[in-house]
Amino acid sequence: MANETVKIPQATAKRLPLYYRFLKNLHSSGKQRVSSAELSEAVKVDSATIRRDFSYFGALGKKGYGYNVNYLLSFFRKTLDQDELTKVALIGVGNLGTAFLHYNFLKNNNTKIEVAFDVDEGKVGKTIGEVPIFHMDDMDKQIVAADIQVAILTVPAPVAQPITDRLVQANVKGILNFTPARLNVPAAIRVHHIDLAVELQSLVYFLKHYPTETEE
Ligand code: ATP
Repeated sequence: MANETVKIPQATAKRLPLYYRFLKNLHSSGKQRVSSAELSEAVKVDSATIRRDFSYFGALGKKGYGYNVNYLLSFFRKTLDQDELTKVALIGVGNLGTAFLHYNFLKNNNTKIEVAFDVDEGKVGKTIGEVPIFHMDDMDKQIVAADIQVAILTVPAPVAQPITDRLVQANVKGILNFTPARLNVPAAIRVHHIDLAVELQSLVYFLKHYPTETEE
């Protein structure tokens, strides 16, 4: 897992995968430099923010030259731990969980769902997107044995907390929570919460009440 040498602000860290994805595309199309204006247009982050973010990486763009794509890529790869494969467990193989098992996370970053768990006997023993599905009874020992430190939670909300407690006991350090439940975890555990229904509702609300400025 991340063994950070450079401490960057959390807001900047959150934008890293975005920058990384775009720079990888640039690199594969043979581009060697990029300006903050080009980046800004592509990732929809204003160029002052990009310049500030990049200054944390020790990447100082030169006027009329821009940033060195190779330098940035190797920095991001190190910072995002792209050289090391991060194994992930998925808990709850319902509609959303199944979609994630089919999704190739390796396409854009070095994370891979290695195992999935469910209580449904009809799903246990099957393989979806090359990921084997095991019974919840085996979750704890399998996660410990495979030294998996990241989990995606796509179970019904009422069972999210007890499962989280087990994950913490099994040494999981990060949880991507797709359930509407707010999870209680010890301070050392990081939970990122993505509630798709809430996100969608808030988008609709913003569209209605805060129409975006029309372009000049
Ligand atoms: P489906 O159509 O398969 O029911 P869904 O996403 O609508 O999918 P949910 O009720 O949200 O269904 O459940 C998601 C998945 O979590 C299901 O596969 C279900 O079997 C599984 N699940 C339910 N309870 C648990 C539990 N305690 N531990 C692990 N998995 C569970």
